[in-house]
Amino acid sequence: MEPTALPSLRPGTLYLVATPIGNLEDITCRALRVLRECDVVVAEDTRHSGQLLHHFQIRKPLLSCFQFNEARRSGQILGRLREGGTVALITDAGSPGISDPGERVVRAVLDAGFRAEPVPGPCALVAALTASGLPTDEFHFVGFLPHKSGQRRKELERLSGVPGTLVLYESPYRVARLLGELAQVFPARQVVLARELTKKFEEFLRGTPGELIEQAKARSLRGEFVVLIAPG
Ligand code: SAM
Repeated sequence: MEPTALPSLRPGTLYLVATPIGNLEDITCRALRVLRECDVVVAEDTRHSGQLLHHFQIRKPLLSCFQFNEARRSGQILGRLREGGTVALITDAGSPGISDPGERVVRAVLDAGFRAEPVPGPCALVAALTASGLPTDEFHFVGFLPHKSGQRRKELERLSGVPGTLVLYESPYRVARLLGELAQVFPARQVVLARELTKKFEEFLRGTPGELIEQAKARSLRGEFVVLIAPG
């Protein structure tokens, strides 16, 4: 273990700071220090992240960085790093770059010869997988499936040949539809729905797709979900 008294932030570094996925107690001490000490925070949604910073009494200039301005924003981030600045990138929840903005910025930063440093912490896929009861030694993270039916079906069929536990993100509006699709492609596999992780109503629903469809009939599936599929 490293000693807790760490040196101050390194100039010309982009810090990828993980933030809570629901429970504010999950922010790490290091994340708070980096957010306090950096020159600027780049956030997916400045209003959302402004509330997080306000909760922890951190006042910092905020720049937005989302899917459609990530390339342009990368240029401004490089400008800051060239001046010897330190930049923290955060998203609405969890780890930057995981089904969230980050990847492009990191590539631009590395290509320009600067440093990218992770400040690890919450990540929905890891939280879900560790408590799912499914194999953790080999897993395949899919992120979000495409929206169009044909493409979803094709992707699920491709995934049926992929070894290890499959981990998907899904919007609450499409979870019921996804269960129907899983019943077609993976009728006999165990599926885990990890719902509202780290929040008050966190729960894990387990069963075959057919069994979960029955459970879903008795209640509405609300909140945020990670969907895990046992290996074949
Ligand atoms: N970067 C984030 C991470 O590290 O997990 C993921 C961002 S992605 C845009 C949002 C998706 O992550 C949600 O649609 C859901 O599938 C999953 N997710 C995020 N928070 C969650 C939570 N508290 N419980 C269950 N799933 C969650």
